[in-house]
Amino acid sequence: MYLTLKLKKNFDYSHQIEIGKSIFSHTREVIENEFNPDKCIIITDENVFKIYKQKIKKELTGNSKHFHIYVIPADEKSKSQKTRDFLENEITKLRLSRDSMLIAIGGGVVGDITGFLASTLLRGIKYINVPTTIIAQVDSSIGGKTAINTKYAKNLIGTFHYPSFVLIDTDFLQTLDMDEYLNGISEIIKTSLVGLENTFSFLEKNYKSVLEKNENVLLKLIKDCVSFKSKIVMIDPTEKNWRKILNFGHTVGHALESLSGYRIKHGFAIAEGMITESYIAFVTNGLSEVDLLRIQYLIDILNLDKKFRRKISFNKAYDKMLYDKKKIGNSLTFSLIKKIGLCSFNNKVNKHIIELAYRH
Ligand code: ADP
Ligand code: ZN
Repeated sequence: MYLTLKLKKNFDYSHQIEIGKSIFSHTREVIENEFNPDKCIIITDENVFKIYKQKIKKELTGNSKHFHIYVIPADEKSKSQKTRDFLENEITKLRLSRDSMLIAIGGGVVGDITGFLASTLLRGIKYINVPTTIIAQVDSSIGGKTAINTKYAKNLIGTFHYPSFVLIDTDFLQTLDMDEYLNGISEIIKTSLVGLENTFSFLEKNYKSVLEKNENVLLKLIKDCVSFKSKIVMIDPTEKNWRKILNFGHTVGHALESLSGYRIKHGFAIAEGMITESYIAFVTNGLSEVDLLRIQYLIDILNLDKKFRRKISFNKAYDKMLYDKKKIGNSLTFSLIKKIGLCSFNNKVNKHIIELAYRH
């Protein structure tokens, strides 16, 4: 006997994203007014907790017994099966219910593991994301990807589980160290290149203010990028087509990041990826020489090109790209810009062109 269970997914994952300056205290208002959970489990990391312990107490938890805080080491290594096990055990000890919720306060590491836990605890509970790095604010907190690493690969264990609310307070960015800050600026440049021509021009005009962490400039940039990524995620939530444009710079970038043993930060690796992939776009996708030069110049004046690729032979980098895409043979597909602010995806590129661009 055969039966068919017709199960069309019709869950509503809609949620609000609030972006502003000095708005962290709204988290508590939203929790009380909209969710009213029986328990709130905050996950954060050591660095963030050290800087923001008082703020979290003053503006979020007070002395309420509803809140429990877990502080994990501030390291990509925390996105591990070991930390997940630890947190799962600790959190289930608290006898949580379907009305309990998790709150991530931190960068991508904290956001990714918290989202993952929320998607599996009791087969899925609500979570709020309060991203505190630029990368987390403009990228990883938007779009519902959650992940942990295994010892063999990054981000390969994961789910799509959307937060119930995302609060982006740009005040947090003032305490980022310069490396972490610039690392995030690189992701902003990428977003502007694939869809926001005006934002790219704004970056060119205001690069000095960007380097000075000007609050108004940052707020505008974050708003632009989050609005754009949200639109893309609504069109293509599971990265079947348009969401792929956000991977511009990432085919080469991921290979370099991985070959460095993750010693160079993601943003610096994708800055080099963007330089190489812009050159590929110049050769194959109609990108003008003027646009190519503008991109190289902006990446340079923001001190993002560490020229790590010069230490890695092309063949090593190419093998890594093929391995990452699980491809064999001589062609890889790239998301490539056509001009600043416009990107296409699924562009096949031959090895010799990638090599030309890599060595350029
Ligand atoms: P990302 O968001 O860049 O993917 P992480 O979650 O690894 O990455 O965060 C990068 C580093 O920045 C970590 O050491 C983390 O503790 C630290 N960090 C996160 N947010 C802040 C902040 N607002 N101020 C200072 N340091 C922070
Ligand atoms: Zn990225």
